[in-house]
Amino acid sequence: MQGARARRPAASTPADRPFHRRRAGASFPRRSDIAGPEQVRDDVTDTLDRDAVRRALLDFYDARRRDLPWRRDPDPYRVWVSEVMCQQTRVETAVPYFKRWMARFPTVDALAEAPIDDVLHAWAGLGYYRRAHNLHRAARLVRERHGGRIPGDPEALRRLPGVGDYTAGAIASIAFGLPEPAVDGNVRRVLSRLHDLPDPGAAELRRLAAELVPAERPGDFNQALMELGATVCTPRSPRCDRCPIASYCRARAAGTQAERPRPKPSKAIPEDDVGTAIILAPDGALLLVRRPEDGLLGGLWEFPGEVVAAGEMPEDAARRAAVRALGKAVASVPGPAPLGPATPLGAVVHTFSHRRITYHAFLFALGEAGAGATEVRQGADGGGAGAGDDGAGNRSGAGGGSVANEVRGRGARLDDAGTPGGRAHDRAWVGTTELPGFALSAAQRKVLALLPD
Ligand code: SF4
Repeated sequence: MQGARARRPAASTPADRPFHRRRAGASFPRRSDIAGPEQVRDDVTDTLDRDAVRRALLDFYDARRRDLPWRRDPDPYRVWVSEVMCQQTRVETAVPYFKRWMARFPTVDALAEAPIDDVLHAWAGLGYYRRAHNLHRAARLVRERHGGRIPGDPEALRRLPGVGDYTAGAIASIAFGLPEPAVDGNVRRVLSRLHDLPDPGAAELRRLAAELVPAERPGDFNQALMELGATVCTPRSPRCDRCPIASYCRARAAGTQAERPRPKPSKAIPEDDVGTAIILAPDGALLLVRRPEDGLLGGLWEFPGEVVAAGEMPEDAARRAAVRALGKAVASVPGPAPLGPATPLGAVVHTFSHRRITYHAFLFALGEAGAGATEVRQGADGGGAGAGDDGAGNRSGAGGGSVANEVRGRGARLDDAGTPGGRAHDRAWVGTTELPGFALSAAQRKVLALLPD
């Protein structure tokens, strides 16, 4: 919240004179007290000196914009990838991912041709993995429908998976120079404060942004709004004394910056406990399972885990997960107890967008019999059939011990184009040196860090 000093108009310009006149009275009621939302919006847009705001924002952008890799070459593909990466991710976090991505998938065609495993691997740690799936699918559609050239038409852009109003507007304005609005979270905050609107809807914000975006340098203007929201007009403690549009800002004049836009009531985040099984084969390989493509963290690899049921111990949930991952065969194999005792490794907490999960990790060292059972199941599921396996779940004598090797690293990285039988593996035995080659979420990397050296 700003003090009395911050509420004082910063400059006298034709644009802010109406505010000055109003504030000269004995009391200055907030607009929410005196007018309905439509009256307020008309009043605001009628009095706002849009040309002055545009000039101030473009000057600010020219002088104070951050040097970001995608800004050096606003090629449509680079703009698209950067915009998708920066959704729900801090720019500083996205930069190294962007550089690695461009080295690995420098063109739309390169992305379209890449196996989804490689795409997820490049994305691993950024979160919201649906974005990576959508980028991959959209790249294939761009190749099919547009000959590998990203369209500039916002309507055509919006027909691509994962491209909504914001991303289409950003690509169209930054890469193609079209005067399209682009309203992300930062722009929503700036516009809400500029117009002192407590809870503007998406259509209203889009209209306000469309009224402001200029025909000249629309991409720079949109980025200036985003930049202002990211670096000056921040959610908490906006730096109004350094803001280039402070003299036009109605929230600043009213002292309502902290309430614009009105904070949403915070919801309690559901919490789960997951028993996680780190299964160690006699030769030192670890078992990873692959999540289904559709759903949270779709297509990523992880250590087997099960949600801890009410009244259950985390170790029991981890054992359930281990048995499920290895297959029922493990329970019927004669010989020493195949799973062995569980060694607790500790717990890590990871907060997803709508859920917080505590992973309780346990190490299960497989006996020789358990390792054999694992190999049988790999073949029985059809996911790891290879040399030494007859494809029906029976180990051949000659291949004893070799089936597990067939599904390590190499097998797991094969995609639908390269996997025998036309489907990706859903389990893999992985040596610790091979682990970095697998797409693990940030949560699973935390679990991995619990393993002793
Ligand atoms: S930084 Fe302050 S003056 Fe500038 S737009 Fe935000 S609230 Fe208004």
